[in-house]
Amino acid sequence: SYRRNWSSYSSDSAVSKESECSFCRVVVIGETGVGKSALAGIFAGARDSMDNNCNLFGDDTYERTLVVDGERATIIVLDTWANQDEGSWSQEQCMQAGDAYLIVYSITDRASFEKASELRIQLRKTRQSEDIPIILVGNKCDLVRRRQVSVTEGRACAVVLDCKFIETSAAVHHNVQEMFEGIVRQVRLRRDSKEV
Ligand code: GDP
Ligand code: MG
Repeated sequence: SYRRNWSSYSSDSAVSKESECSFCRVVVIGETGVGKSALAGIFAGARDSMDNNCNLFGDDTYERTLVVDGERATIIVLDTWANQDEGSWSQEQCMQAGDAYLIVYSITDRASFEKASELRIQLRKTRQSEDIPIILVGNKCDLVRRRQVSVTEGRACAVVLDCKFIETSAAVHHNVQEMFEGIVRQVRLRRDSKEV
């Protein structure tokens, strides 16, 4: 499976050649029930002219090629955080595996918002010297009457945690495409600045 072959996969020469330009692993993390799989599922199911093989590596990993700002970007989304009992991915492996992270909370669940901060701090410890692209994602923004975390709080938290911020709704597909395009742009910004 994709998990077991992780090390051989990443050292594959064809893949590492591609990784120089536009290949990126995005890991989705956050409390159970916040909508990680729903967001990943939209990514997997979304259609465009460049649609690739989805579910290439298993049920919780999805690969697609997007066109962002006129340039192709191949993304693998890893929705492996929730499935630790079944799979072999530890949280530690998830923290190591990503080129970029979506830290998801639900705007209807304050505890998940607090958990998101913890995960950001954990990620910073695990990947100390790296400047990893991260978006703090407040999902379920369609549930206006059940909101427990305001947009202002979310945005302020992202400033403190030194990451980008977006509110999404997997239910009504609000800002989901924008979120994935945003992470591609963040990855590119860092790669471009390294080239100088
Ligand atoms: P995960 O545990 O983080 O993977 O969460 P899931 O993707 O399994 O979603 C948990 C529940 O929340 C499911 O019942 C989803 O249908 C629901 N859900 C996910 N995203 C949204 C959203 O944006 N709005 C609403 N109203 N429900 C959502
Ligand atoms: Mg899930």
